[in-house]
Amino acid sequence: MTVIYDKIAIIGMGLIGASLALASRRGGIVKEIIGSDIDPDTAAAVARLGLTDHFETDAALAVDDADLVIMAVPVGAIGALAQKIMPKMKPGAVLTDTGSTKTSVLRDVAPHLRDDIIWLPSHPLAGTEYSGPEAGFSSLFDGRYWLVLPGDVAPDVVAKFDSFLQGLGAVTEHMSADYHDRVLALTSHLPHLIAYTIVGTAVDLEQQLKNDVIRFSASGFRDFTRIAASDPVMWRDVFMNNDAAVLEMLQRFSEDLSYLQRAIRWHEGDKLEALFTRTREIRRSIIDAGQD
Ligand code: NAP
Repeated sequence: MTVIYDKIAIIGMGLIGASLALASRRGGIVKEIIGSDIDPDTAAAVARLGLTDHFETDAALAVDDADLVIMAVPVGAIGALAQKIMPKMKPGAVLTDTGSTKTSVLRDVAPHLRDDIIWLPSHPLAGTEYSGPEAGFSSLFDGRYWLVLPGDVAPDVVAKFDSFLQGLGAVTEHMSADYHDRVLALTSHLPHLIAYTIVGTAVDLEQQLKNDVIRFSASGFRDFTRIAASDPVMWRDVFMNNDAAVLEMLQRFSEDLSYLQRAIRWHEGDKLEALFTRTREIRRSIIDAGQD
């Protein structure tokens, strides 16, 4: 692979930031990686794991001279971070983020933008329930979608950024912030909310029942506990920042749940079977698309 950006700065060296560093190296698509993180433990781990060429505790110092700056911090922290680094970025540099919500990120970054900085928000649809730099791995983005919001950025600049993401192993797709937030509310945010709720319900059961739920947990409950183990700060920020779209999808979900509740009460097995047949087909199409 050829070098696409000489120098990149990754702010936030957690699961996503560390994976980005590893995948950039693996792809040979950058010459130099500068890392930065607010957490002193993370700084020590980044050095131990040799994830970057340089590390700066102060994000403003890390972005100086970078051709591409990636904000890989929780969405609630992106606005203040953009405000801090913007004056130090070099003219013509590209700024992106990896945040899981997009309307709020656009809103929070907009007041700090400079005319000579190219703002290309993005979101990798790849992750695990683990966080921190040790959780990072180079193949995290392989074959996964990475959504880019090009806005009115020049096509050649977007194409260069797309090739960088493809060099990380990702498949790129372009969309608007509003559409992104509605799709992700259903495909990612609502499933996390349901997992947090189910596991929370188990926690509230009386002791004996709770012990047995954990002891005999079958794959259904176990899968929910995996999702519900996701980073609490990241997910708090997702729900605080994609509230409108999540509430809209939650309303639809509640209506569909009531339909199922009624079908069970009235022993309408045909309705249950018809729905379960349709949902099984969706699973098959996800497998066919290589996204399982
Ligand atoms: P993570 O593992 O928790 O790492 C985030 C790192 O950023 C932490 O070390 C955090 O330090 C640091 N940080 C927070 N505020 C900072 C600031 N102002 N300056 C510098 N560093 C700062 O999180 P992640 O999973 O990598 O997620 C990063 C972003 O990617 C989030 O916006 C998330 O929505 C998005 N994303 C995550 C996933 C996923 O599955 N995890 C998937 C796609 C996109 P502290 O621990 O001290 O706060």
